Amino acid sequence: MKKLADCKEEIHSCSKCGLCQAVCPLYKITGNDCTVSKGHFIMLRGLLKGELKMSKTIKRYLDMCLKCNACTKFCPSGIDVTEIVALAKAEYFKISKKEKIKSFILKQLINCLNITKIFVKKRKSKQFTKKIIYFGGCGSRVEGNQHIIKILNTMDTEVITPDFDCCGFPFFVRGDFDNFKEYMDKFYSITEKYGDYDIVVNCATCEKTLKSYVKWGGKEIKIKNVTEYIRENNLKPELKKPHTVTFHKPCNMDNFEDAKWILENTKNLEYIEMKGFDSCCGLEGITNFKERKVMSKLFKQKHNNIKSTGAKTVLTSCLACKITLLLFSCGKYQVQDLVAFLAKNVKE
Ligand code: SF4
Ligand code: SF4
Repeated sequence: MKKLADCKEEIHSCSKCGLCQAVCPLYKITGNDCTVSKGHFIMLRGLLKGELKMSKTIKRYLDMCLKCNACTKFCPSGIDVTEIVALAKAEYFKISKKEKIKSFILKQLINCLNITKIFVKKRKSKQFTKKIIYFGGCGSRVEGNQHIIKILNTMDTEVITPDFDCCGFPFFVRGDFDNFKEYMDKFYSITEKYGDYDIVVNCATCEKTLKSYVKWGGKEIKIKNVTEYIRENNLKPELKKPHTVTFHKPCNMDNFEDAKWILENTKNLEYIEMKGFDSCCGLEGITNFKERKVMSKLFKQKHNNIKSTGAKTVLTSCLACKITLLLFSCGKYQVQDLVAFLAKNVKE
């Protein structure tokens, strides 16, 4: 596996132009150089040169990064910030007993989510023309995979649902690469048992993680988001009754166009784009209680933007975003997964 030292060239390619400061939602609130990529790379250069030692303070600033990728998209040097921050955190993970205990607890929680698999209803088998493999991820299990499967079946598609586990993202972002690799290997050992079908995934974060496996030594695989599949199949559903919704684009969703196409082509659905629809929900605030003052400002911005649309439902495509939005909705609006919402409200 790659190490922080392998990214030396990339870290040194930061020209300190400061463009990341202009787009970083966190920097806009803190005004602190250490909380944005430019400052992270200055610290990491110091680490690599041996002038600085990995410490709780450096880890704190790395933890504050929202992994929203806003700076990556604008960085003229094209530096993959999320990857470098994860590799830097791996250096801390190696020396911290506390981080290892936290990872262990997280793994047990994910295992508990896996138990919910038994509640997924098996649909009657029928002859379908198309076939795909569905990666539900631990997140989609909470939402209810059966909703996504129902929509896929509508498109004359047989859905194979292997016993997949977590994609490993929660461990990747913590710098726990041993567990990340374990989930990645598990994914490949499961997919090898099935044919060469497209793998369809609902959660934007799972999708991004599965696509990133190639970078970490995994083989190339065909991954598609369910929104892309819906658009490809030109499915234009009609809802039972009119709904007005807005949409929060998860930072990990690379292609919003497919979700937008669905929002604009579903009958009986009015879509109102909110201000800052693509800005980070501030998820890190949930786990990063030490920074709750800063993070609560991000939540407030998002909350106000949702409220000002007047929509009673906000849709999204990532479980982590959904939980964040739900926690701060204060009952003012409903938060639902886009495809699950379609499945629940579609005219049969
Ligand atoms: S935008 Fe990229 S090159 Fe410019 S300071 Fe930020 S990380 Fe460095
Ligand atoms: S990933 Fe987001 S929060 Fe992190 S430094 Fe870049 S813009 Fe800021």
